[in-house]
Amino acid sequence: MTTAQHQEREVERRLLALAFRNLPPMLGVTAVTACGAALVLSHNGHGWAWWWLSGIMVTTALRVVGWRRYLRARADRRVREAAEVRAWRRHYGLGLMISSLTWTLPTFIAMSTPSPAQYVLAIIMSALAGGGTGITAAMREEGRLYITIMLVPGSFFLMLTSPDFLVLGILGLMFAAAMLVVHSNNHAIVRQSVTLQIENDALGRNLRQLNAGLEEKVAERTEALERVANRDTLTGLPNRRGLTEWMAAQLSADSAHEAAVLFLDLDRFKQINDAMGHDVGDQVLQAVGSRLSQQLPSGAILARWGGDEFVVVIPHTQDVRPLTDSTAQDLLSAIARPYTSDGQQLTLGLSIGVAYYPTDAALPKDAILSADLAVAEVKRTGRGHMLAYSETYAETQRRRFDLGRALSAAIGADELELLYQPIIDARTRRVASLEALARWRHRELGDIDPAEFIGLAEDSDRIVALGDRVLRRACADAQTWITSDGPPNVAVNISVKQMLHEGFVLRVMQVLTQTGLPARRLELEVTESVFDDDHIDTMRNVAASLRAIGVSVHIDDFGTGYSSLSRLHQFPVNAIKIDKSFVARVGDEGSVIVESALMIARRFGMAVVAEGVETQAQADALSALGVDFMQGFHFARPSKTPRLSLDEPDDAAERAAAPAASLTPIAQRRTGGS
Ligand code: C2E
Ligand code: CA
Ligand code: CA
Repeated sequence: MTTAQHQEREVERRLLALAFRNLPPMLGVTAVTACGAALVLSHNGHGWAWWWLSGIMVTTALRVVGWRRYLRARADRRVREAAEVRAWRRHYGLGLMISSLTWTLPTFIAMSTPSPAQYVLAIIMSALAGGGTGITAAMREEGRLYITIMLVPGSFFLMLTSPDFLVLGILGLMFAAAMLVVHSNNHAIVRQSVTLQIENDALGRNLRQLNAGLEEKVAERTEALERVANRDTLTGLPNRRGLTEWMAAQLSADSAHEAAVLFLDLDRFKQINDAMGHDVGDQVLQAVGSRLSQQLPSGAILARWGGDEFVVVIPHTQDVRPLTDSTAQDLLSAIARPYTSDGQQLTLGLSIGVAYYPTDAALPKDAILSADLAVAEVKRTGRGHMLAYSETYAETQRRRFDLGRALSAAIGADELELLYQPIIDARTRRVASLEALARWRHRELGDIDPAEFIGLAEDSDRIVALGDRVLRRACADAQTWITSDGPPNVAVNISVKQMLHEGFVLRVMQVLTQTGLPARRLELEVTESVFDDDHIDTMRNVAASLRAIGVSVHIDDFGTGYSSLSRLHQFPVNAIKIDKSFVARVGDEGSVIVESALMIARRFGMAVVAEGVETQAQADALSALGVDFMQGFHFARPSKTPRLSLDEPDDAAERAAAPAASLTPIAQRRTGGS
């Protein structure tokens, strides 16, 4: 069926419904007027009128029954097909016809004998026909028939009965014609409005469908976006946002849930990432994610917090602590198993900070912060284990904050002091250089460990200003060192951040010019992190420029970074400084590192320095291995007055702390030599 046909059928159906809707008032009017007519007729001597009235009442009753049957059929959806509509229309038309014919009956009888009833009837039928123009407007043919039957036969009859009624008859016919026109117009209007209504409904339906479709699409999109927004793309785990939402839903205030929040921070991941590249780093993170997720107790969630940090939340209604402890152990051992990438074995460690909600934090999200504070404490105290949150960690954090502010002020006021620690030529035992080491005495807290304030400065970029002050002062100091046989060099520790800072090389040149220190007397110590992927190219350029102006670059703490041996040959360094942790083990495993470092250094024409030499035995072993320079408490501690030669007396305080024997061999040698 075409849409037009479909619509046509719908129009017919609605017109029929409209006709039936108008039926009850029509029947009511008919019944009432019939009563009035019967009364007038009988009053004028037409006793049969009561029989007529009974006839009208019976047909009206039958039509009421028909009307009710239609309503039922419609309710049962039996007036849908075209045939059904037509059948009911016939029903309706038949009722109209019977009713109008019944009305013409008294006309013929009453009109023949003149009486007031004639006029009453004429008026009633005209009124009914007039009403019919509206009330039957839904049905074109049926309505016309009704109006015609009501007016035309009576009018003719009037014209024929007597010349007196000729005019009345003609008027009746004219009235009939007018009523037919009105009915026809009314029908057109009704039909049009029904059609419009149908179109309107269809439009509304389409719009609703369109809307529903749109809404569905929007909902789909929103969900997809949310999925993306709540997931970490690398590991597929929930991200920060996903976790926060999950916690908000799971740990609402009224759920009476206890929960443990485990903040996981990988140890040594940065080194792997820097040394092996981000692709390997990504693979490792994925492997970590899947290993961790296999250790979760039921109901727990694992999320990637960012970088190499993960968070596990274990919601529980009973005491969650034993479960947390065992889970933490499982997580630690899962991460400790080595990883292989390109045939290479990598090992990682894990630090875990735990906080309990609601014991340690009033809000679930604050429990994450508490767990983070706990893991920071793990990192400070040796990594690789689990610690539960304690109030004191928050204090530690506050201390860091306060110290950071005080440090800024101290740097600004140039309150930092420098100590100098000699670096000894292993062959001649002369002081080859002096390393500048920063010291800070806090007004209330006293001496702050360099590891603490340097770390603080590194974390907050204050290291750039700090390092600049140290560089300037060290160069100025070195310029004043006077010895009989050429003054020692000055070694200054430089942070990677400082080196990356715009104009670093220019700054070095400026300091050298201002202090008058020859470039060859300056040694810059940088850690292995200069080899990091992120900035290797910049660093190479900076190092090359430094070398070009005659400044030496030394790699500090060599061996502690994730092996960067392969990078050494790409990088113009003058010396490597073997970390004290290897020097401490020289004689057993430490020797291997020293030997391989020496081999590489020789291969690339670099000098080797051993730092942290504390005993005669270590000094002897290192000398035997062929180390070029040595530094450590065995020779001299860092001191306020630079020890330009080991013959000179140490600072009183420092000498008390240093092993007395350490100075003997060199002093003897010097004495013997003079
Ligand atoms: P570092 O550059 O490795 O400095 C050597 C550290 O080892 C110094 O610690 C020194 O006092 C200590 N040391 C020297 N000989 C021995 C020994 O025989 N045994 C032991 N156990 N230790 C020895 P210090 O002065 O506490 O400095 C710690 C770190 O702070 C330095 O490590 C360096 O990385 C950093 N630092 C100090 N001053 C500066 C600075 O001006 N700038 C930068 N960027 N870092 C600095
Ligand atoms: Ca150093
Ligand atoms: Ca060092």
